[in-house]
Amino acid sequence: MQDFLKIYNKLFTYYGPQGWWPAETTFEMMIGAILVQNTSWRNVEKALINLKPFLKPYVIEKISVEELAELIRPSGFFNIKAKRIKSYMDWFKTYEYDIQQVKKIDRVKLRGELLSIKGIGPETADVIQLYAFDIPIFIVDAYARRIFYRLGYDMPDTYDDFRRQVEVELPRDLVLFNEYHALLVEHSKVHCKKTPICGGCPLLEVCERRL
Ligand code: SF4
Repeated sequence: MQDFLKIYNKLFTYYGPQGWWPAETTFEMMIGAILVQNTSWRNVEKALINLKPFLKPYVIEKISVEELAELIRPSGFFNIKAKRIKSYMDWFKTYEYDIQQVKKIDRVKLRGELLSIKGIGPETADVIQLYAFDIPIFIVDAYARRIFYRLGYDMPDTYDDFRRQVEVELPRDLVLFNEYHALLVEHSKVHCKKTPICGGCPLLEVCERRL
């Protein structure tokens, strides 16, 4: 009964295009992907306001980890995240902070390199791959797990098995993967919340409501 394309189409018809990621530049997107670990987007926005005047690779490179931590304080876990951003910058610098250079890397190699950066796990790596480097990949997050579980799907526990199970049914379409993640986040906020609002849900007729 798994039909991930059908679910996508229903969500897209209901919510419309989400146009993610919410950032003015690709560099801001990458930093936002690290800042959003274990916190809400509202807190990330506050940190990004502080960071705005510094949001260029060569500027972030120059400021100390302590200064950076202070700037991103509203995002929580700021000392750890400042170190993670610095580690990310060390990696990005090996490509001269050039997004086009990174896009030329083989995708398996790129994912391996991202995962080898301290503090970058599969979810953050894939968010960066999808929204910064235009690689069509399915993001497995708590929202996707919650929605697919409630719909009645038996999904694997491990990140990559879950991801592959969804991807195998979908066309390799960048816009589709870009929108799918954003739509699942939106659906988790509007209908499939912690306590779901099933009335009027666009997935109601295909949902087993395993609550
Ligand atoms: S019907 Fe309810 S549980 Fe199922 S997807 Fe919609 S909001 Fe979630």
